[in-house]
Amino acid sequence: MRITKVDVFHVRWPGGGRSAWVRVWDEAGRYGLGEASPMAGGDAALTILAGALAPLVGADVLDTSVLHHRLFHQHIKLGPDGALAAALAALDIALWDLKGKLLGQPIFKLLGGAWRTTLPFYASVGGNAHRSVDAVCQAVTGRLKDSPALVKIRFDGDKTQRDADIAGDIAKARAVRKLVGDDFPLAFDANNTYSVGGAIRVGRVLEELNYAWFEEPVLHYHPDSFAQVARALPGIPVAAGEQEYTLRGIRQLIEAGVGIVQPDIVKTGGFTGMQEMAALARTHGVDLVPHQTQPSIGHVANLHFVATLLHGHHPAEYNVAVPSEQNVVFRDPPRLQDGLWTVPDAPGLGLEINEDELAKRTESWAGAQR
Ligand code: CA
Repeated sequence: MRITKVDVFHVRWPGGGRSAWVRVWDEAGRYGLGEASPMAGGDAALTILAGALAPLVGADVLDTSVLHHRLFHQHIKLGPDGALAAALAALDIALWDLKGKLLGQPIFKLLGGAWRTTLPFYASVGGNAHRSVDAVCQAVTGRLKDSPALVKIRFDGDKTQRDADIAGDIAKARAVRKLVGDDFPLAFDANNTYSVGGAIRVGRVLEELNYAWFEEPVLHYHPDSFAQVARALPGIPVAAGEQEYTLRGIRQLIEAGVGIVQPDIVKTGGFTGMQEMAALARTHGVDLVPHQTQPSIGHVANLHFVATLLHGHHPAEYNVAVPSEQNVVFRDPPRLQDGLWTVPDAPGLGLEINEDELAKRTESWAGAQR
Protein backbone atom coordinates (compact mmCIF):
# COMPACT_ATOMS: atom_id res chain seq x y z
CA MET A 1 0.00 0.00 0.00
CA ARG A 2 1.63 3.22 -1.21
CA ILE A 3 1.87 6.67 0.35
CA THR A 4 0.21 9.17 -1.99
CA LYS A 5 0.39 12.48 -0.15
CA VAL A 6 1.93 14.09 2.92
CA ASP A 7 0.18 17.16 4.35
CA VAL A 8 2.04 19.25 6.90
CA PHE A 9 0.28 22.02 8.75
CA HIS A 10 -0.12 23.99 11.95
CA VAL A 11 -3.24 23.88 14.06
CA ARG A 12 -3.90 27.04 16.06
CA TRP A 13 -5.71 26.68 19.39
CA PRO A 14 -7.99 29.20 21.11
CA GLY A 15 -5.52 29.50 24.01
CA GLY A 16 -2.87 30.76 21.56
CA GLY A 17 -0.75 27.64 21.20
CA ARG A 18 0.10 25.92 17.92
CA SER A 19 0.61 22.26 17.10
CA ALA A 20 2.73 20.93 14.21
CA TRP A 21 0.90 18.02 12.62
CA VAL A 22 1.32 15.78 9.62
CA ARG A 23 -1.30 13.75 7.75
CA VAL A 24 -0.07 10.95 5.50
CA TRP A 25 -2.49 9.54 2.91
CA ASP A 26 -2.46 6.16 1.19
CA GLU A 27 -3.84 5.11 -2.18
CA ALA A 28 -7.06 3.80 -0.58
CA GLY A 29 -7.82 7.29 0.76
CA ARG A 30 -6.97 6.48 4.38
CA TYR A 31 -4.91 8.84 6.49
CA GLY A 32 -2.54 8.59 9.40
CA LEU A 33 -1.86 11.42 11.86
CA GLY A 34 1.42 12.45 13.41
CA GLU A 35 2.73 15.27 15.55
CA ALA A 36 6.15 16.89 15.85
CA SER A 37 7.67 18.47 18.92
CA PRO A 38 6.30 22.03 19.16
CA MET A 39 9.65 23.74 19.78
CA ALA A 40 9.53 27.17 18.11
CA GLY A 41 6.06 26.28 16.88
CA GLY A 42 7.35 23.15 15.14
CA ASP A 43 8.40 25.35 12.19
CA ALA A 44 11.72 23.63 11.59
CA ALA A 45 10.24 20.13 11.77
CA LEU A 46 7.46 21.08 9.32
CA THR A 47 10.01 22.59 6.92
CA ILE A 48 11.98 19.34 6.96
CA LEU A 49 8.82 17.28 6.51
CA ALA A 50 7.60 19.39 3.60
CA GLY A 51 10.98 19.44 1.90
CA ALA A 52 13.62 16.84 2.67
CA LEU A 53 11.21 14.07 3.64
CA ALA A 54 8.65 14.63 0.90
CA PRO A 55 10.22 12.06 -1.50
CA LEU A 56 8.71 9.30 0.61
CA VAL A 57 5.57 9.63 -1.54
CA GLY A 58 5.35 6.29 -3.32
CA ALA A 59 6.95 4.34 -0.47
CA ASP A 60 5.16 1.42 1.20
CA VAL A 61 3.14 2.41 4.28
CA LEU A 62 4.26 -0.74 6.10
CA ASP A 63 8.00 0.00 5.78
CA THR A 64 8.05 2.11 8.93
CA SER A 65 11.47 1.08 10.23
CA VAL A 66 13.20 1.11 6.83
CA LEU A 67 11.80 4.57 6.06
CA HIS A 68 12.75 5.91 9.47
CA HIS A 69 16.36 4.77 9.30
CA ARG A 70 16.81 5.60 5.62
CA LEU A 71 15.59 9.17 6.08
CA PHE A 72 17.56 9.59 9.31
CA HIS A 73 20.81 8.69 7.58
CA GLN A 74 20.05 10.57 4.36
CA HIS A 75 19.52 13.79 6.29
CA ILE A 76 21.89 13.29 9.21
CA LYS A 77 23.49 16.70 8.62
CA LEU A 78 20.16 18.37 9.41
CA GLY A 79 20.39 16.87 12.87
CA PRO A 80 20.59 14.27 14.22
CA ASP A 81 19.20 15.99 17.32
CA GLY A 82 16.29 18.40 17.31
CA ALA A 83 14.14 19.19 14.30
CA LEU A 84 15.14 16.23 12.11
CA ALA A 85 14.31 13.76 14.87
CA ALA A 86 11.03 15.57 15.56
CA ALA A 87 10.09 15.50 11.86
CA LEU A 88 10.85 11.78 11.72
CA ALA A 89 8.82 11.28 14.90
CA ALA A 90 5.76 12.94 13.35
CA LEU A 91 6.14 10.86 10.22
CA ASP A 92 6.60 7.61 12.13
CA ILE A 93 3.53 8.20 14.31
CA ALA A 94 1.47 8.93 11.17
CA LEU A 95 2.74 5.80 9.43
CA TRP A 96 1.94 3.60 12.45
CA ASP A 97 -1.54 5.16 12.58
CA LEU A 98 -2.00 4.37 8.90
CA LYS A 99 -0.55 0.88 9.30
CA GLY A 100 -3.06 0.21 12.07
CA LYS A 101 -5.94 1.34 9.88
CA LEU A 102 -4.67 -0.77 6.99
CA LEU A 103 -4.45 -3.88 9.20
CA GLY A 104 -7.57 -3.07 11.26
CA GLN A 105 -5.68 -3.10 14.57
CA PRO A 106 -4.83 -0.56 17.29
CA ILE A 107 -1.16 0.38 17.42
CA PHE A 108 -0.64 -1.25 20.82
CA LYS A 109 -1.55 -4.60 19.23
CA LEU A 110 0.93 -4.06 16.41
CA LEU A 111 3.62 -3.30 19.00
CA GLY A 112 3.08 -6.71 20.57
CA GLY A 113 0.15 -6.16 22.89
CA ALA A 114 -0.69 -4.11 25.98
CA TRP A 115 0.09 -5.09 29.58
CA ARG A 116 -2.83 -2.89 30.56
CA THR A 117 -5.18 -0.65 28.57
CA THR A 118 -6.24 1.72 31.36
CA LEU A 119 -3.33 3.85 32.42
CA PRO A 120 -2.78 6.09 35.43
CA PHE A 121 -1.14 9.42 34.72
CA TYR A 122 1.00 12.02 36.43
CA ALA A 123 0.20 15.72 36.41
CA SER A 124 3.12 17.97 35.52
CA VAL A 125 2.66 21.35 37.22
CA GLY A 126 5.02 23.92 35.71
CA GLY A 127 6.15 27.49 36.27
CA ASN A 128 6.97 27.17 39.97
CA ALA A 129 10.29 29.05 40.03
CA HIS A 130 8.56 32.41 40.18
CA ARG A 131 5.56 31.46 42.32
CA SER A 132 5.26 31.95 46.04
CA VAL A 133 5.07 28.83 48.21
CA ASP A 134 1.31 29.35 48.59
CA ALA A 135 0.84 29.78 44.84
CA VAL A 136 2.73 26.53 44.18
CA CYS A 137 0.40 24.72 46.57
CA GLN A 138 -2.63 26.30 44.89
CA ALA A 139 -1.41 25.17 41.47
CA VAL A 140 -0.89 21.61 42.72
CA THR A 141 -4.31 21.60 44.40
CA GLY A 142 -5.88 22.64 41.08
CA ARG A 143 -4.51 19.56 39.37
CA LEU A 144 -5.39 17.07 42.12
CA LYS A 145 -9.04 17.21 41.02
CA ASP A 146 -8.13 15.08 37.98
CA SER A 147 -6.92 12.26 40.30
CA PRO A 148 -3.33 11.92 39.09
CA ALA A 149 -1.27 9.01 40.41
CA LEU A 150 1.70 11.35 40.95
CA VAL A 151 2.33 15.09 40.77
CA LYS A 152 5.54 16.53 39.39
CA ILE A 153 6.45 20.07 40.34
CA ARG A 154 8.39 21.73 37.57
CA PHE A 155 10.37 24.89 38.14
CA ASP A 156 10.92 26.22 34.60
CA GLY A 157 13.53 28.69 35.79
CA ASP A 158 16.10 30.50 33.65
CA LYS A 159 18.58 27.91 32.33
CA THR A 160 21.28 30.58 32.08
CA GLN A 161 21.15 31.01 35.87
CA ARG A 162 22.31 28.49 38.44
CA ASP A 163 21.15 27.95 42.02
CA ALA A 164 18.98 31.09 41.85
CA ASP A 165 16.82 30.23 44.88
CA ILE A 166 17.75 26.92 46.46
CA ALA A 167 16.21 27.78 49.83
CA GLY A 168 12.97 28.80 48.11
CA ASP A 169 12.88 25.67 45.97
CA ILE A 170 13.37 23.48 49.04
CA ALA A 171 10.60 25.35 50.86
CA LYS A 172 8.26 24.64 47.94
CA ALA A 173 9.20 20.95 47.89
CA ARG A 174 8.49 20.72 51.64
CA ALA A 175 5.19 22.61 51.36
CA VAL A 176 3.91 20.37 48.56
CA ARG A 177 4.88 17.25 50.52
CA LYS A 178 2.93 18.60 53.50
CA LEU A 179 -0.03 19.48 51.25
CA VAL A 180 -0.43 16.01 49.69
CA GLY A 181 0.58 13.90 52.71
CA ASP A 182 3.46 11.49 53.29
CA ASP A 183 2.33 8.73 50.95
CA PHE A 184 1.32 10.60 47.80
CA PRO A 185 3.89 10.17 44.99
CA LEU A 186 5.73 13.34 44.00
CA ALA A 187 8.50 14.20 41.57
CA PHE A 188 10.69 17.29 41.27
CA ASP A 189 11.85 18.79 37.97
CA ALA A 190 14.68 21.33 38.21
CA ASN A 191 14.75 22.00 34.45
CA ASN A 192 18.57 22.10 34.30
CA THR A 193 19.07 24.97 36.73
CA TYR A 194 21.43 23.72 39.46
CA SER A 195 25.16 23.40 39.85
CA VAL A 196 26.34 19.96 40.97
CA GLY A 197 26.65 21.19 44.56
CA GLY A 198 23.27 22.91 44.44
CA ALA A 199 21.62 19.81 43.02
CA ILE A 200 23.06 17.65 45.77
CA ARG A 201 21.77 20.04 48.45
CA VAL A 202 18.26 19.96 46.97
CA GLY A 203 18.42 16.24 46.22
CA ARG A 204 19.23 15.34 49.84
CA VAL A 205 16.03 17.08 50.92
CA LEU A 206 14.06 15.30 48.20
CA GLU A 207 15.43 11.98 49.47
CA GLU A 208 14.25 12.86 52.96
CA LEU A 209 10.83 13.91 51.60
CA ASN A 210 10.51 10.65 49.67
CA TYR A 211 10.17 12.19 46.20
CA ALA A 212 9.98 9.54 43.46
CA TRP A 213 12.53 11.17 41.15
CA PHE A 214 14.75 14.24 40.68
CA GLU A 215 14.50 15.40 37.07
CA GLU A 216 17.17 17.31 35.13
CA PRO A 217 18.99 18.68 38.17
CA VAL A 218 21.90 19.95 36.06
CA LEU A 219 22.49 21.09 32.49
CA HIS A 220 21.39 18.34 30.16
CA TYR A 221 24.57 18.36 28.05
CA HIS A 222 26.84 17.60 31.01
CA PRO A 223 26.66 13.84 31.54
CA ASP A 224 29.59 14.08 33.98
CA SER A 225 27.55 16.41 36.17
CA PHE A 226 24.66 13.94 36.14
CA ALA A 227 27.13 11.26 37.21
CA GLN A 228 28.32 13.31 40.20
CA VAL A 229 24.76 14.08 41.28
CA ALA A 230 23.57 10.50 40.86
CA ARG A 231 26.51 9.12 42.85
CA ALA A 232 25.80 11.51 45.71
CA LEU A 233 22.08 10.69 45.88
CA PRO A 234 21.59 6.95 46.26
CA GLY A 235 18.14 7.47 47.79
CA ILE A 236 16.41 9.03 44.76
CA PRO A 237 16.61 8.24 41.04
CA VAL A 238 17.92 11.05 38.86
CA ALA A 239 15.81 11.38 35.69
CA ALA A 240 16.65 12.94 32.32
CA GLY A 241 16.26 12.41 28.60
CA GLU A 242 13.73 14.87 27.21
CA GLN A 243 16.57 16.80 25.56
CA GLU A 244 17.93 13.67 23.90
CA TYR A 245 16.93 12.48 20.45
CA THR A 246 19.23 9.58 19.74
CA LEU A 247 20.23 6.24 21.19
CA ARG A 248 23.68 7.70 21.77
CA GLY A 249 22.27 10.50 23.93
CA ILE A 250 20.19 8.12 26.04
CA ARG A 251 23.15 5.76 26.39
CA GLN A 252 25.32 8.59 27.75
CA LEU A 253 22.75 9.36 30.42
CA ILE A 254 22.47 5.72 31.41
CA GLU A 255 26.25 5.44 31.64
CA ALA A 256 26.23 8.54 33.87
CA GLY A 257 23.99 6.73 36.34
CA VAL A 258 20.60 8.24 35.52
CA GLY A 259 17.94 5.88 36.94
CA ILE A 260 15.01 7.00 34.75
CA VAL A 261 15.30 7.98 31.09
CA GLN A 262 12.62 10.18 29.55
CA PRO A 263 12.67 10.25 25.75
CA ASP A 264 9.62 11.76 24.09
CA ILE A 265 7.63 10.11 21.30
CA VAL A 266 7.15 13.39 19.38
CA LYS A 267 10.89 14.06 19.46
CA THR A 268 12.70 10.76 19.25
CA GLY A 269 11.58 8.93 16.18
CA GLY A 270 8.02 8.03 17.13
CA PHE A 271 7.21 4.39 17.89
CA THR A 272 10.26 3.15 16.01
CA GLY A 273 12.65 5.31 18.03
CA MET A 274 10.92 4.68 21.36
CA GLN A 275 10.96 0.91 20.95
CA GLU A 276 14.72 1.00 20.45
CA MET A 277 15.18 3.23 23.50
CA ALA A 278 13.01 0.93 25.61
CA ALA A 279 15.25 -1.99 24.66
CA LEU A 280 18.35 0.05 25.52
CA ALA A 281 16.93 1.05 28.91
CA ARG A 282 15.86 -2.50 29.71
CA THR A 283 19.32 -3.82 28.87
CA HIS A 284 20.73 -1.58 31.59
CA GLY A 285 17.96 -2.07 34.14
CA VAL A 286 16.93 1.57 33.85
CA ASP A 287 13.29 2.68 33.87
CA LEU A 288 11.89 4.44 30.82
CA VAL A 289 9.21 6.99 31.72
CA PRO A 290 8.41 8.95 28.57
CA HIS A 291 8.38 12.72 28.55
CA GLN A 292 5.19 13.87 26.82
CA THR A 293 3.60 17.31 26.81
CA GLN A 294 1.21 17.33 23.83
CA PRO A 295 -2.42 16.71 24.80
CA SER A 296 -3.92 15.07 21.72
CA ILE A 297 -1.94 13.14 19.07
CA GLY A 298 1.26 13.04 21.15
CA HIS A 299 -0.71 11.97 24.22
CA VAL A 300 -2.59 9.17 22.46
CA ALA A 301 0.58 7.92 20.75
CA ASN A 302 2.27 7.89 24.14
CA LEU A 303 -0.62 5.93 25.69
CA HIS A 304 -0.27 3.22 23.03
CA PHE A 305 3.47 3.02 23.69
CA VAL A 306 3.31 3.10 27.51
CA ALA A 307 0.64 0.37 27.45
CA THR A 308 3.15 -1.97 25.80
CA LEU A 309 6.12 -1.22 28.11
CA LEU A 310 7.43 -4.14 30.10
CA HIS A 311 7.76 -3.02 33.73
CA GLY A 312 5.93 0.19 32.82
CA HIS A 313 4.89 0.77 36.41
CA HIS A 314 5.23 4.56 36.33
CA PRO A 315 2.25 6.73 35.33
CA ALA A 316 2.15 8.41 31.91
CA GLU A 317 2.79 12.16 31.80
CA TYR A 318 -0.11 14.50 31.10
CA ASN A 319 0.73 18.15 31.09
CA VAL A 320 -2.43 20.23 30.99
CA ALA A 321 -5.69 20.45 32.89
CA VAL A 322 -8.43 18.09 31.70
CA PRO A 323 -10.18 18.36 29.28
CA SER A 324 -7.82 19.68 26.63
CA GLU A 325 -9.01 22.32 24.17
CA GLN A 326 -7.56 20.09 21.43
CA ASN A 327 -10.30 17.47 21.94
CA VAL A 328 -12.65 19.55 19.78
CA VAL A 329 -11.03 18.46 16.50
CA PHE A 330 -11.60 14.74 17.23
CA ARG A 331 -14.87 12.85 17.19
CA ASP A 332 -14.19 10.54 20.13
CA PRO A 333 -10.93 11.41 21.88
CA PRO A 334 -9.94 9.44 24.98
CA ARG A 335 -11.51 10.82 28.15
CA LEU A 336 -10.05 10.67 31.62
CA GLN A 337 -12.18 8.64 34.01
CA ASP A 338 -11.38 8.23 37.71
CA GLY A 339 -7.76 9.13 37.08
CA LEU A 340 -7.30 6.61 34.27
CA TRP A 341 -6.86 6.99 30.51
CA THR A 342 -8.18 4.17 28.36
CA VAL A 343 -6.03 3.43 25.32
CA PRO A 344 -8.27 3.55 22.22
CA ASP A 345 -8.85 0.14 20.65
CA ALA A 346 -10.00 1.39 17.23
CA PRO A 347 -7.49 0.84 14.38
CA GLY A 348 -4.29 2.90 14.45
CA LEU A 349 -4.15 5.62 17.07
CA GLY A 350 -7.95 5.44 17.28
CA LEU A 351 -8.39 9.15 16.63
CA GLU A 352 -10.96 10.28 14.08
CA ILE A 353 -10.82 13.88 12.87
CA ASN A 354 -13.81 16.16 12.96
CA GLU A 355 -12.93 17.72 9.61
CA ASP A 356 -15.05 20.87 10.00
CA GLU A 357 -13.50 21.72 13.35
CA LEU A 358 -9.97 20.98 12.16
CA ALA A 359 -10.43 23.07 8.99
CA LYS A 360 -11.34 26.12 11.11
CA ARG A 361 -8.03 25.89 12.96
CA THR A 362 -5.66 24.72 10.23
CA GLU A 363 -2.89 26.95 8.94
CA SER A 364 -1.44 25.58 5.73
CA TRP A 365 2.30 25.34 5.39
CA ALA A 366 4.35 26.17 2.31
CA GLY A 367 5.16 22.95 0.54
CA ALA A 368 2.10 21.08 1.79
CA GLN A 369 -0.22 19.16 -0.55
CA ARG A 370 2.53 17.13 -2.13
CA1 CA B 1 11.24 18.05 32.42
